[in-house]
Amino acid sequence: MDFGNTLLHSEHQPKEKEEVKALIIGSGPAGATAALYVARAELLPVVIMGITPGGQAALTHTIENYPGFPEGIGGMQLGELFQKQAERFGARFDFDTVSKVDLNRRPFSIITYGKEYITDSLIIATGARSNLLNIPGEKELTGKGTSYCATCDGWFFKGKPVVVVGGGDSALEESLFLTRFASSVTVIHRRDTFRAGALLQKRIAGDPKIKVIYDSVITSINGNGAVESLTVKNINTGQEMDFATKGIFIFIGHKPNTEVFAGHMDMDENGYIRVDNLMRTSIPGVFAAGEVADPDFRQVITSAGMGAAAAIQLTKYLEHNS
Ligand code: NAP
Repeated sequence: MDFGNTLLHSEHQPKEKEEVKALIIGSGPAGATAALYVARAELLPVVIMGITPGGQAALTHTIENYPGFPEGIGGMQLGELFQKQAERFGARFDFDTVSKVDLNRRPFSIITYGKEYITDSLIIATGARSNLLNIPGEKELTGKGTSYCATCDGWFFKGKPVVVVGGGDSALEESLFLTRFASSVTVIHRRDTFRAGALLQKRIAGDPKIKVIYDSVITSINGNGAVESLTVKNINTGQEMDFATKGIFIFIGHKPNTEVFAGHMDMDENGYIRVDNLMRTSIPGVFAAGEVADPDFRQVITSAGMGAAAAIQLTKYLEHNS
């Protein structure tokens, strides 16, 4: 699954054209917050939402560290509130995906499935998507017991044992969520210590439904039409075992959704868009915000903050370049 992916890779030339002052690509916390700020500057922004409205955050069951919600809030609910607030001030959200961009001259051209947008300024907030293990069986059994989203697929594993791969915050947080459905959750991690924060580690250790296998990697996902087992290899001994399970949830980090912008602007070696402290990309008038430009923090609050900063800078840019 391509979380929050707003990009479509087909050569498609729509007939309809629309001119806008400010276009935002992506509707996660960064894109929606940018839309709120740009709308309040009365620039009537249009947001191209992508195939996952609300971005990756909307796929999170409960967000407990976004300030203002002491009891936590559902990811999808938070995304809807972000959108509603931006719409109140005049932002428009279009359910569409980008297939091609021309950023060589201003105004910029952004081609989507539905139309061509001609815009004076742009904020790229296309987010990131899950990394794959790239092992035998993974592609064939995705959606058949292999998943990258506990909120989306956890329910299907009611009363069944599942495996979670990874040792970061996502892996541990989603393991705790999966205990609501699964009979047991086995976390398989390639090292002997977790990368995740201390609080999550404590919760995992205290949960009777969760077991951990350290120093181990999965070398193949096995099953005929549905996941039946995993081949698990201990990296110290090299020994392999067959681990029976109906489900495997993979949380091993992310990759930015920047393919359609490749060659247009500066990016780092992992494809994250490089921005300066004013959220400017290497193209004047084009800003980036959120996980597409942030390999480090990747929080709803930091993405929202980057979105606000990009919007403020875009507004200043248009004041001087219209
Ligand atoms: P992450 O922190 O990059 O962790 C990825 C985990 O997957 C690591 O434990 C890594 O192992 C493991 N891994 C990577 N490639 C692997 C492979 N090929 N095979 C097996 N294991 C592999 O990613 P994340 O957990 O998605 O978190 C990303 C960011 O979002 C972090 O900054 C995190 O703090 C943040 N986040 C925060 C929250 C929260 O605050 N509630 C929730 C979710 C995410 P190693 O440890 O050995 O490298």
